[in-house]
Amino acid sequence: MNIGRVMRSQICIATILCLTLLPGCELVADKIKPPVDHLALGNPSKARVVLANTDNYLMQKPQFVLSYNRTKGIPNWVSWQLNQTWLGDVERRNNFRADQSLPPTWDKVDSRDYSRSGYDRGHMTPSGDRTNTEVNNSATFVMTNIVPQAPDNNRGPWVDLENYCRDLVDQGKELYIIAGGYGDQTAIANGKVIPPRNLWKIIVVMDETDIGADGISPNTQVIAVDMPNKQGIKAREWQQFKVTIDSLEKKTGYDFLSSVSTPIQNILENRIDP
Ligand code: MN
Ligand code: MN
Repeated sequence: MNIGRVMRSQICIATILCLTLLPGCELVADKIKPPVDHLALGNPSKARVVLANTDNYLMQKPQFVLSYNRTKGIPNWVSWQLNQTWLGDVERRNNFRADQSLPPTWDKVDSRDYSRSGYDRGHMTPSGDRTNTEVNNSATFVMTNIVPQAPDNNRGPWVDLENYCRDLVDQGKELYIIAGGYGDQTAIANGKVIPPRNLWKIIVVMDETDIGADGISPNTQVIAVDMPNKQGIKAREWQQFKVTIDSLEKKTGYDFLSSVSTPIQNILENRIDP
């Protein structure tokens, strides 16, 4: 038996298999759900992976899920789970970059589009919430997870609330968090990016033994905040910005906690965390 010829024919078969299977694999990969359900509490704007949905375009990543707004060049909202498994000691990667997973024909916001704008490149899913692997930390630096954020907001009450969330996780909690903006301010980057007037965040605090929406009861702790995206608030405490989810639903037009039963939504959404 000629070993060389057998090997050549095996390589040939392998090549044919790859060429025929790869395009199919890509299609399948597109439809695989992320391993963690970052949308366990619902999809508040009913975002979908449809090209015509230019301003409410669903992007699902292993690390978080978001609705992208092409007109504004920012996410409408970003939703993610946070528990101990996401936390480690990986260094902040700082590799801000355009999100190449946007549809190929769409204009992509680049890190440089925020230069000299006066705004920080503000994370929605914080870098500090994804420190278990380099890949997961790097994932938070795509510009589809970023909004123009006033430095006093980003480095004041906003970061304090991010740290409080990780304190809750250290106490054994599992969080479902969603954050975004509403309203418009003067565009930056020649009209490519529109900074939100306000930034909001909703945090559902669960025990690690609870699973998704089924773990939610009328007693579940829910924190909602609404902060102006402006200078002059750096010294303020995040607790001063607490609001009801109902008020955020009115301002954004979204339906939060939509996968939770209506009676429980009604209770949780008009309560301010004490
Ligand atoms: Mn930040
Ligand atoms: Mn709701």
